[in-house]
Amino acid sequence: MREIAFAEVPLEPYRDALGEERLESLRRGCERVRSLLGGRTVWNVNSTAAGGGVAELLHVLGPLARAAGVDVRWLVLDGDAEFQAIAKRLVSRLYGVAGDGGPLGDAEARRYRRRIEESAEPLAAFLRPGDVVIVHDPQPAGLIGTARRCGASVVWRCHIGSDQANEHTRDGGRFVGGFVAEADATVFSTIGHVAGWAPRPLVIPPSIDPCGPKNMPLTGAQVRDVLGVAGLIAHERPAPVETPVPVGAGVRVHRPAVVLREGPPPPADLPMVVQVSRWDRLKDMIGVLESFVASGVDGYLTLAGADLAGVADDPAAAGVYDECRQVWESLPGGHRRRCQLVCLPMDDLRENAVMVNALQRHASVVVQKSLAEGFGLTATEAMWKSRPLVASAVGGLRDQVTDGETGLLVGDPRDVATTAAHLRRLFRDRPFARRLGEGARRRVRERYLPDRQLLDWARLIEGVTT
Ligand code: UDP
Repeated sequence: MREIAFAEVPLEPYRDALGEERLESLRRGCERVRSLLGGRTVWNVNSTAAGGGVAELLHVLGPLARAAGVDVRWLVLDGDAEFQAIAKRLVSRLYGVAGDGGPLGDAEARRYRRRIEESAEPLAAFLRPGDVVIVHDPQPAGLIGTARRCGASVVWRCHIGSDQANEHTRDGGRFVGGFVAEADATVFSTIGHVAGWAPRPLVIPPSIDPCGPKNMPLTGAQVRDVLGVAGLIAHERPAPVETPVPVGAGVRVHRPAVVLREGPPPPADLPMVVQVSRWDRLKDMIGVLESFVASGVDGYLTLAGADLAGVADDPAAAGVYDECRQVWESLPGGHRRRCQLVCLPMDDLRENAVMVNALQRHASVVVQKSLAEGFGLTATEAMWKSRPLVASAVGGLRDQVTDGETGLLVGDPRDVATTAAHLRRLFRDRPFARRLGEGARRRVRERYLPDRQLLDWARLIEGVTT
């Protein structure tokens, strides 16, 4: 169990993104929580400090809540390869799929409990009666009871789920439901994912940070420079780029990405279709590749994920990347030369975030063809950048995207033909694509910025502590 220190951020830059009124209401909400807590702490417990949506969210909300006066802190439960494999299997089951297909029975439960028991004392050393503990996702769920026995109020925050209950979700529920039953409340990203065994469930969708390196404004020239340095588009003289960030120090972008490509980088003015995701089968990168090829659009496809060395907690990533590479290699040359597979450097997460930002801004169309999704942060990030989005109608993506207004949905996530048709439409009808992008931006402003999320949490914390 180790503590991750939150960055310090000023509140002022949020005035531009949120406006005076919203910033003031955020201040008031946090002030209420602060006085309720009376000097006690809100702890977040999850299983990774980097990579994926949960870490992303905590890196944003933690500093912002602290800047608004609430003592929020973050603990990570590490595990060895065996624990990670079991945890990954558990996550897959709650998504409604088999994952690696391995068992989740008594032996795995014993192994899981062992790690949880080892972590109980280290966790208890941090907690004081009256603290609030938010346990994220199933990996650390076994610690809910420990936190309760320390006198804390405990909320289980589940970021994942399946649109339909099946044998796998039941398997996952059997494994984790008993631990979760001890929580004071549970939170899900979308109503469709509320599990029957979750006590006192509430829905709070996530949000994105408009002022951090992932979503801050970038000029067209900065976008081209960043992508030039990363080696993702043709650039005359790529040189390190310094980008100021509204909250926090500037970022230096100087590392090239690892790119699998045939031929030179695509010209900067060739329209690009982009999906940014972890290398995970549920993100269906191969389906995006197939849809792009089937669409026949005159553009270029970039599939980008994290550098494999940077996601050591994700044992399946290398295999998924490899499957994707094999499909790419089997494409006819003409198509292969129109697609690149990109592993973005992870040595510096802020540099990585600026690269994601630039890629999303550069995209003519952003795709999120997930087979399951709790909430698509990548989709929200693209929508905030006014990008026309093609997303599968699964999980939280169905709440985020109003079909034809804030993006285009694909009813069956495996439907390559419809995804391809949507791409063709957005390439052909640029005014429509622009309108979707504008609608997308409005949607994020209304619903998916961090003040809204923090105020939802403030209300929940009031509920569990009074
Ligand atoms: N991400 C990133 N760098 C990468 C790949 C992904 O920062 O190389 C981020 C991405 O921008 C998003 C998060 O990881 O903020 C993924 O969240 P999402 O909800 O889309 O999916 P999850 O990974 O939680 O399933």
